[in-house]
Amino acid sequence: MKINLANIKKAKKLLDNRDCVAIPTETVYGLAGNAYSDQACKKIFKLKKRPKDNPLIVHYYNIKDLRKDCELNYNFYKLYKKFCPGPVTFVMNLKRKSKISKIATNNNASLAIRFPRHPITRHLLKKLNYPLAAPSANLSTKVSAVSPSQVKEDFGKKIKYILNGGKSSIGVESTIIDLRKKPKILRLGGLEIIKIKKILKKEIKENLYPKRIIAPGQSKLHYSPGLPIRLNAKKISDNEAGLIFKKDKKKKKNFFYLSKKGNLNEAAKNLYSILRKIKKSKYKSIAVTKVPNFGLGKTINDRLIKASKY
Ligand code: AMP
Ligand code: MG
Repeated sequence: MKINLANIKKAKKLLDNRDCVAIPTETVYGLAGNAYSDQACKKIFKLKKRPKDNPLIVHYYNIKDLRKDCELNYNFYKLYKKFCPGPVTFVMNLKRKSKISKIATNNNASLAIRFPRHPITRHLLKKLNYPLAAPSANLSTKVSAVSPSQVKEDFGKKIKYILNGGKSSIGVESTIIDLRKKPKILRLGGLEIIKIKKILKKEIKENLYPKRIIAPGQSKLHYSPGLPIRLNAKKISDNEAGLIFKKDKKKKKNFFYLSKKGNLNEAAKNLYSILRKIKKSKYKSIAVTKVPNFGLGKTINDRLIKASKY
């Protein structure tokens, strides 16, 4: 990917000024601000209309930077070595002397952190002397954005700059794993759980639909295109949009396909763009046929279940 230094400079200038900038990542676009600044973090919450008790993920360039803010442990080092930078977020204990804004953490003693892989955002992070708080660049409870034009759809001129990094290569949010005690998955995402288990060499607890919400990605309605969704549909009527995993010969004009050849990674990459496309079409409801429940299919199903609570 070609890196335009003038664009990175422009983003840096705004961020240094405690403004918000949309940044590309391999999962989805982020709405970024200086994680050490209350002012910048407040702006993020306001723009997204995000409830204050939903803390932000903070993005770092490397371990050296992270060490200033968090207590690192053995499981973290193992997973870092194998998967970072990449689509995985770790919940860690904050150091007492950390400068992370209390607005970003909602005053919690823990912090969710990630090392994004996108080369443009890595280039930007390297130039900053603070990490970036960056939740997904979409309105709260709605579908994430995976391209600059989708960020624009949600925010219009309210954000001063979108750093263009093309379409997100993974297309769904990061997997969140709590590493404070025994590793526990809080949200399914772009990194498959099976790969994490292989490295930690043990079963990992999953806490995806808890009674008490720890990560609001776990809350009931989320990732919603703003239309009713019917899951595991066997038949699709002509007046509803059909969201179908694999392209087949029956093609009708109300059918929208996630993948040409039945590839789960391709389906994840297309998921949010297709939900946005359906929302803009004339159809007022969505019927989803079964999506295989393994690999990134598990993440797709998780998002569709939460989106169906409309
Ligand atoms: P988003 O970046 O908007 O897709 O969402 C970030 C996710 O990270 C949300 O589900 C948050 O609740 C979760 N998160 C952020 N900080 C923490 C934390 N300290 N502990 C648990 N989950 C967190
Ligand atoms: Mg989000």
